[in-house]
Amino acid sequence: MLSHGLAYLAIPGPSVMPERVLRAMHRAAPNIYRGGMIDLTASLIPDLRAVARTTGEVAIYIGNGHAAWEAALSNVLDPGDRVLVIATGRFGHGWAEMARGLGIEAQVLDFGPQATFDPDQVAQALAADAAHTLRAVLCVHVDTASSVRNDIAALRGLLDAACHPALLMADCIASLGCDRFEMDAWGVDVMISACQKGLMTPPGIALVWFNARAAAARARLVRVSRYWDWTPRANPQEYWQYFDGTAPTHHLFGLREALDMIAEEGLEPIWARHAALARAVWAAVDAWGQGGAMALNIADPGLRSHAVTAVVAGGSDGQRLQDWCETKAGLTLGIGLGRDPAAAFFRIGHMGHVNAQMILGALATIEAGLIALAIPHGPGGTAAAAASIAAATAG
Ligand SMILES: *Cc1c(COP(=O)(O)O)cnc(C)c1O
Repeated sequence: MLSHGLAYLAIPGPSVMPERVLRAMHRAAPNIYRGGMIDLTASLIPDLRAVARTTGEVAIYIGNGHAAWEAALSNVLDPGDRVLVIATGRFGHGWAEMARGLGIEAQVLDFGPQATFDPDQVAQALAADAAHTLRAVLCVHVDTASSVRNDIAALRGLLDAACHPALLMADCIASLGCDRFEMDAWGVDVMISACQKGLMTPPGIALVWFNARAAAARARLVRVSRYWDWTPRANPQEYWQYFDGTAPTHHLFGLREALDMIAEEGLEPIWARHAALARAVWAAVDAWGQGGAMALNIADPGLRSHAVTAVVAGGSDGQRLQDWCETKAGLTLGIGLGRDPAAAFFRIGHMGHVNAQMILGALATIEAGLIALAIPHGPGGTAAAAASIAAATAG
């Protein structure tokens, strides 16, 4: 009925794919032994460094975010090594599970699904490790389930204050190309991402950036999985070594186009766009919450992601809204990932190729769903979002 037309997939990954990216991928298979594909691949490296704000190295894998988790761990940790994992939602736990699968001992500090980490508890955990057996601290920058944004630079500060040599490893799968991230300035040793969120490319490419400290940690290991080893991928002597086999040719065409789009807009304007769109989402949810159970999952605006917003709806209203928006209006919202009961929550993905009219349309659609389903809510959510967008464009 009213759902026919251009759909908006507002889940936090895979994100909306630009027509430009799709068109760049729609072509015949290229030669992988000579010619343009080889130059195109090399051209990605400086741009991938630029989006991560690093002069370090980058390895590309055919894989999803889970592959990036395993690739990063496999290059700096041995079975039996210990890591400290900061969990602020779902994805820290996921990275810890991946570590345990590799025989790594993961000590998880769990701060629950609605908060960032407590610096005092992290400092205590580091101080308690006087023998420096912790080899790395793992933290998700933006936890996509809770939509909390963790202060990665502050973690570097805690490590330095404790004179602790552990590597700082950050998961920026949900934040890269959306929220400000400064790998070198923030003292991050290993950063991982994947191409299907802020990088606007179909799922299939995993990325690992690493600095000289991380390369030294890699050199300490006696054995690294040949497939995950980042050394030949980051410094290939022959083209096939970038990927340890056949290149993901069409993903590379797509990623090339996406990185061009990012360079054309500029990282700072991209971060500002995501911030402005996020504020519009928060304004709407705040207004709805004045007359019902609805609330932003992360209370402190300074700790909220600019790429995804988790909303507490209560009862089974999160699920009901998702169903209504998708079937009645062509808007697909994110599920209450890792929450109990999941039906009480929903998420709005606003990452990557999204603009004001898409966000305003999504919010007006959610408001229509609230009315249609008779879910109690305060008035003026869509109007508050419109005012927020207007304010962002002023001046
Ligand atoms: C999406 C996501 C992952 C997992 O990525 P997959 O491609 O689903 O394996 C991990 N961490 C974060 C922060 C994510 O947003």
